[in-house]
Amino acid sequence: MRTKLFEPGTCALIALVFAALSPVVCAAQQRLNPLMHDRTEPQPRVVVPPAPSTQEQVGRPPSDAVVLFDGRDLSRWVSMDGSPARWKVQDGYMECVPGAGSIRTLQNFGDCQLHIEWATPPTPKGTGQGRGNSGVFFGMDRYEVQVLDSYQNSTYADGSAGAIYGQYPPMVNASLPPGQWQTYDIVYIAPRFDSKGNLVSPAFITVFHNGVLVQYHAPLTGPTSWLERKPYEPHPEKLPISLQDHGDPIRYRNIWVRELGPPTRKELTLPRALLDTYAGVYERGRNDTIEIARHGDQLVATLAKVRFPLFAESETKFFAKTVDLEIEFIKDAQGKVDRLVYSVGEGASTCHKIK
Ligand code: MG
Repeated sequence: MRTKLFEPGTCALIALVFAALSPVVCAAQQRLNPLMHDRTEPQPRVVVPPAPSTQEQVGRPPSDAVVLFDGRDLSRWVSMDGSPARWKVQDGYMECVPGAGSIRTLQNFGDCQLHIEWATPPTPKGTGQGRGNSGVFFGMDRYEVQVLDSYQNSTYADGSAGAIYGQYPPMVNASLPPGQWQTYDIVYIAPRFDSKGNLVSPAFITVFHNGVLVQYHAPLTGPTSWLERKPYEPHPEKLPISLQDHGDPIRYRNIWVRELGPPTRKELTLPRALLDTYAGVYERGRNDTIEIARHGDQLVATLAKVRFPLFAESETKFFAKTVDLEIEFIKDAQGKVDRLVYSVGEGASTCHKIK
């Protein structure tokens, strides 16, 4: 009998091979200590585990989680372009307003464990992909775990609830009836690229749907998409998580995320319009400048002819990852950006904007 490439058993085998070959994937996992029963090995960090939700009541997140939505407001969410999110919040949940657009987290996440609860409309409308469609995306809209009313609703398998859209159907259909709260617990391992932009290891996704394993460490072929398997394009390891507006009023509640691996600096994806206010030329000395330009969602600084992609830590503070370079932008009394303060490893200098 011929083995199909995308059968669950084969997927798990592929995943194990990738995991074994890929040292970066292990960054989020336990490291094997060659010395067994080592008395000097650090103790695992204490985390108070989550209390599970019921249909009526929302559970508690674990003690080390970043809470993305606690039922009150959308302060941690924005529209995809960084403008305020236009979904509605009521009775402890948020609801997609069809046509308002997808929303994303302001904060970026790489390897992570995400808990999210969702409900499709109690009275189903439409069929197939047209019934209760939304999605949980990682990597700024690139990698989708499908949200769909898949309760007695037939559609193509790799587009049903728990699917990695267009790539891997869920192993089983663990859907509850429409209107009921359902859970996803997802482990996302971001893809890695080398300095030339070549793929070093793919994205991996594991999903529990209502506590049932439906995806196990599935290696993504690239961004998820309708009709085509898109190739990977290099992108930063940490990017926003997003929720899809697919035209249906899907509800979400109790959303929290745990970052995996060693602690890293907080990163945000700021609105492009804000980044544009920082772009320009700043005078560092006689005939010497720092140039700030925007490339997509990121600022790039050119200092002494060396280019540094910058990562936002707050609305005004940025840092580089290859050198301990920090830049803070400062506004004048009229609210216009007129200078920056930068430091490399030590000290701090002010540079005024000249262009
Ligand atoms: Mg979808």
